[in-house]
Amino acid sequence: MSDWCFPFKTPPELHWRGGSRFFGAPRPKGRKHGGCDLIKPPYEQIYAVHDGVLVHEETLFYQGTFYVTYQHGPYLVRYGEILKGSTNGAKRGHTVKKGDPIAKVGLMINPKTKKLYPADGPRGHMLHLEMYAKGSDHSTLRSKKGPYQRRKDVMDPAPHLDEWVKYPPPG
Ligand SMILES: [Zn+2]
Repeated sequence: MSDWCFPFKTPPELHWRGGSRFFGAPRPKGRKHGGCDLIKPPYEQIYAVHDGVLVHEETLFYQGTFYVTYQHGPYLVRYGEILKGSTNGAKRGHTVKKGDPIAKVGLMINPKTKKLYPADGPRGHMLHLEMYAKGSDHSTLRSKKGPYQRRKDVMDPAPHLDEWVKYPPPG
């Protein structure tokens, strides 16, 4: 048993350490990827990885997708690229137990065509998961400084995902 679990019932077919999905993977203009991508079909249910408290309510994130941030024990976990409206209006202070459903995988809009990527396509649909070491700091996660353009305490989620994947969400 573990106090933590994986955010999906099954692992993604493509590993979070591969492709351009890993933390630190190069992005345009010298930027680096600030999280790990778990490629999944849109609408797939995402589960809380630990008991937690919602600290950032559903907020516009990227190409038509949204994010929420939970304080999970000593960390903040940002669940990014989620579906609009899939958090059921959960407000700041909302508490969850490990394995509770919290959001769904979002539909990403192609910035060139302004259209949704095909729902069965291989790209554009995922959980983009970020972690921060200073879990009690609920200030903004964005930063203009550094290649990650994230708060300084951004951390690589991969070692945690490697552990959590042994434990599917209960229930
Ligand atoms: Zn990502």
